[in-house]
Amino acid sequence: MPLPLCTLSSQAHHCLRALKSVKKDCLPPLCIARWASTSSVPRITTHYTIHSRNKDKRWEGVNMERFAEEADVVIVGAGPAGLSAAIRLKQLANEYGKEVRVCLVEKAAQIGAHTLSGACLEPRALEELLPDWKERGAPLQTPVTEDKFGILTKNSRIPVPILPGLPMTNHGNYIVRLGHFVNWLGEQAEALGVEVYPGYAAAEVLFHEDGSVKGIATNDVGIQKDGAPKTNFERGLELHAKVTFFAEGCHGHLAKQLYNRYNLREKCQPQSYGIGLKELWLIDEKKWKPGRVEHTVGWPLDRHTYGGSFLYHLNEGEPLVALGFVVGLDYQNPYLSPFKEFQRWKHHPSVEPTFEGGKRIAYGARALNEGGFQSIPKLTFPGGVLIGCSPGFMNVPKIKGTHTAMKSGMLASEAVFNQLTNENLQSKTIGLDVPEYEENLKKSWVWKELYSVRNIRPSCHGVLGVYGGMIYTGIFYWILRGMEPWTLKHPGPDSDQLKPAKDCTPIEYPKPDGKISFDLLSSVALSGTNHEHDQPPHLTLKDDSVPVNKNLAIYDGPEQRFCPAVSY
Ligand SMILES: Cc1cc2nc3c(=O)[nH]c(=O)nc-3n(C[C@H](O)[C@H](O)[C@H](O)COP(=O)(O)OP(=O)(O)OC[C@H]3O[C@@H](n4cnc5c(N)ncnc54)[C@H](O)[C@@H]3O)c2cc1C
Repeated sequence: MPLPLCTLSSQAHHCLRALKSVKKDCLPPLCIARWASTSSVPRITTHYTIHSRNKDKRWEGVNMERFAEEADVVIVGAGPAGLSAAIRLKQLANEYGKEVRVCLVEKAAQIGAHTLSGACLEPRALEELLPDWKERGAPLQTPVTEDKFGILTKNSRIPVPILPGLPMTNHGNYIVRLGHFVNWLGEQAEALGVEVYPGYAAAEVLFHEDGSVKGIATNDVGIQKDGAPKTNFERGLELHAKVTFFAEGCHGHLAKQLYNRYNLREKCQPQSYGIGLKELWLIDEKKWKPGRVEHTVGWPLDRHTYGGSFLYHLNEGEPLVALGFVVGLDYQNPYLSPFKEFQRWKHHPSVEPTFEGGKRIAYGARALNEGGFQSIPKLTFPGGVLIGCSPGFMNVPKIKGTHTAMKSGMLASEAVFNQLTNENLQSKTIGLDVPEYEENLKKSWVWKELYSVRNIRPSCHGVLGVYGGMIYTGIFYWILRGMEPWTLKHPGPDSDQLKPAKDCTPIEYPKPDGKISFDLLSSVALSGTNHEHDQPPHLTLKDDSVPVNKNLAIYDGPEQRFCPAVSY
């Protein structure tokens, strides 16, 4: 039976408050190297998942007891997927007069604060979730009025018509500030009774003795950079649930543990990734075209480097544009810097005039999934489900994953709600297994949509590179709508595509002018990220020898160029 709706105990609140005071302590590793140690190197990683506290004298006598709270469902991550799932669960509970306790933890200090602004939203899932979204004041203020697509060469731009039905068509979509939209979803969830806890990262997955997921533990706080406890050390809190939803977004660190534990990636291809860099600008009002969506491919990337730009003109009272650049992480030349490619793209003669006289007001970057249909893992396991960009429902040619993330969360909630309220349920495990979610997802429009575009990204790996992908899209997507009877494979993990530095030419990037283009440090200062100095680095290496012995020795340290936040 579902537990009665209640709020966290005062001890639990104490833990959560303590956690809030050190917001981003112990955040998930962005990059985990996989090679075995070969030599003695200075110790970089201090995280307890690599260096156990049990054998560390500095932890002797420290109280490691954790308080636990019980819920029906715990959701990790308040992005579009996690919030849509939470809303759907509460809608169903209200509709059927059931009490279902839903707790949601989000590592950002405010809901939506970790979401990069500026996106083009397909409202299909929103229409299904909250059909009265207009009356509820959803921040969708800019319907798309114009779509432009171009191929850039160094000095010119070749316009490409966007025929109806191509993935880049945005008729009916909205340009949004995604962080505002997510924040609004958070308000809807809270109004329905979801317990939303921003400022708390889920740091560990907890398991029952029967192997099913028991819930999560939030991060401990008050730990020094060298891994020792500070005087204000506070243990995290355990949140137990019948089903835990993992909605961490792309490349979540808890999902990676689950892949291994339950062998969830056994039948799918390796995930492939892109890095997306975004900026928000206030531009000269005369150049502002509210509702316009622009995309380019080509310069400054070569044809074998997947990627391109987007530029969205918002209509939110002031002349705002959201722009960005995506680079597939299966690029070959280790000297490539996605950040610097983005900066020099802004100097293209057909792009630069938009920014002249304008002011950059925000910067951010994050990873996105590019594996699509072929890389979707098994989505359910005893006690848990994966939703949104965590397993990866991004429609890559559309550069859209919000609508699919939302729908996956909704479908998971419908399946989970049925089990939670099934009085005749005979579960084999304490944590409930809900395979119906995956079955229903496979019957949904999400599956159909991802299936139809499945071959577009892999078709960019031929001799013609990205242009081959465009030709493929024209023939097989536009005419056959993805009904061709074959499924192309990705070439393998992104890292396998990287060539040794000795086989590549270093790339000379122009110096930023401080007006249109900028350096990395001043950009990170605009990203709203803020890390306490004396805390363990949030990059956790399984093997501290890899950066020097492998990355530097063979690839000339590509992490110093691909990282968008100077974390290395
Ligand atoms: C550059 C770029 C451009 C994009 N453009 C578009 C676009 O125009 N249209 C579109 O539809 N989509 C776009 N997307 C994709 C879209 O952003 C994602 O598909 C969507 O945000 C996925 O939602 P999600 O809820 O699965 O994950 P996310 O939005 O990533 O949300 C995950 C949340 O979980 C939190 N979290 C992660 N780990 C933990 C933890 N351990 N504990 C607690 N909280 C945690 C994160 O802080 C985050 O708030 C773009 C993506 C990028 C990178």
